[in-house]
Amino acid sequence: MKYNPAEKLQDYLVFGEFGEVNPSITDSSTFTFLSFDKMQELFDHEIEGCFLYSRHLNPINDFLARALALLENTEAAQVTASGMAAISCALLQILNSGDEIVSSRTIYGGTYALFKNFFPKIGIETKFVNTCNLDSVEKAITNKTKVLYFESISNPLLEVADIAALRRIADAYNLKIVVDNTFSPMLITPSNYGADVVIHSLTKFINGASDCVAGCICSSKDFINSLRNVNSGAVMLLGPTMDSLRAASVLKNMHTLHIRLKQHSKNALIMATELENLGLKTFYPGLKSHPQHDLMESLLNPGFGFGGMLAFDVKNEEVSHQLLTRMQEELVGYFAVSLGFYKTLFSSPGTSTSSEIPKEEQIAMGMSGSLVRMSVGLDNDIYKSVGRVEKCLREMKVI
Ligand SMILES: *Cc1c(COP(=O)(O)O)cnc(C)c1O
Repeated sequence: MKYNPAEKLQDYLVFGEFGEVNPSITDSSTFTFLSFDKMQELFDHEIEGCFLYSRHLNPINDFLARALALLENTEAAQVTASGMAAISCALLQILNSGDEIVSSRTIYGGTYALFKNFFPKIGIETKFVNTCNLDSVEKAITNKTKVLYFESISNPLLEVADIAALRRIADAYNLKIVVDNTFSPMLITPSNYGADVVIHSLTKFINGASDCVAGCICSSKDFINSLRNVNSGAVMLLGPTMDSLRAASVLKNMHTLHIRLKQHSKNALIMATELENLGLKTFYPGLKSHPQHDLMESLLNPGFGFGGMLAFDVKNEEVSHQLLTRMQEELVGYFAVSLGFYKTLFSSPGTSTSSEIPKEEQIAMGMSGSLVRMSVGLDNDIYKSVGRVEKCLREMKVI
């Protein structure tokens, strides 16, 4: 099911109090009530255009949340202070002590650590499986399982999830599907294939400036309201509130998301193709050699490419570490974690963003220590960067 988020966002106009083209930045933690009855009503349920307290909601956060709901084709959205806050709040809202998660084993290291080390403290257990193998997903489900969790494009191996097939399993066992779509905003709209809750780390492509940490939860109006409930809402009660100044800034950066994504995708496809041509094992869903290339093509909203993330294996762990600093010296980009920046960013996931995952499990999921992850930047001339990477690889005798 195709969707055009860029077109939806194009028709999303926000007007400030005085008709400003950028809405005013909410500079208040609290809001006046015009009557006692209105106050009571607001504590009971949401009233369109009325605000209570900024941890609950405020106008600028609401403007950003509405843009994110359009992006993800959901009824509503909630912004949070980080991607991890979005993940933890969404799951804590759904789960009770004693419940279980069936999760993809190739997920962001922070999420993995949350499920593996932290959630058991409150009685929530997780079974990690290869979500590309639907049989193993089904086998892991018990009568305690409440949630299927995965990333639409996984970190760092770039496996593509068959969301519709996972939905069929979820329906059979009455599970909620929570999807982290951080690697593929605009490219894939998980709600169109049956995701109940879609999470983003806004820190990455959506904000795109590497100047803040932020997150969001996109879902039905009912679920978003439950997160904000003054008596039982995870966001309201745990309080990971996005600051108003930041919400305004993220909203402005979102205006160029479609243009940035097209350039990230264009450059990443060239970089991946050239690396593969040099004989390196390259992971990029836009490559014909990628095991889920056809699946990815069937999921993509047309026009934004296959995304800006790729990984390649240089076969030697020590060499992979040296390569990171060499590529930085050659001005390919920055040796840094994170993604979605205008400059190319690269890191070795085994020792950084996925280091929370034990070594033997990394090996089991096909993640070698010599893997290099790259978030390809917006370079005007990507061939120049390709040449520089090639120079480093030759120098280090990888090719
Ligand atoms: C970065 C990241 C997160 C965590 O987001 P923060 O904004 O850093 O809290 C979660 N999932 C994925 C896929 C990420 O890349």
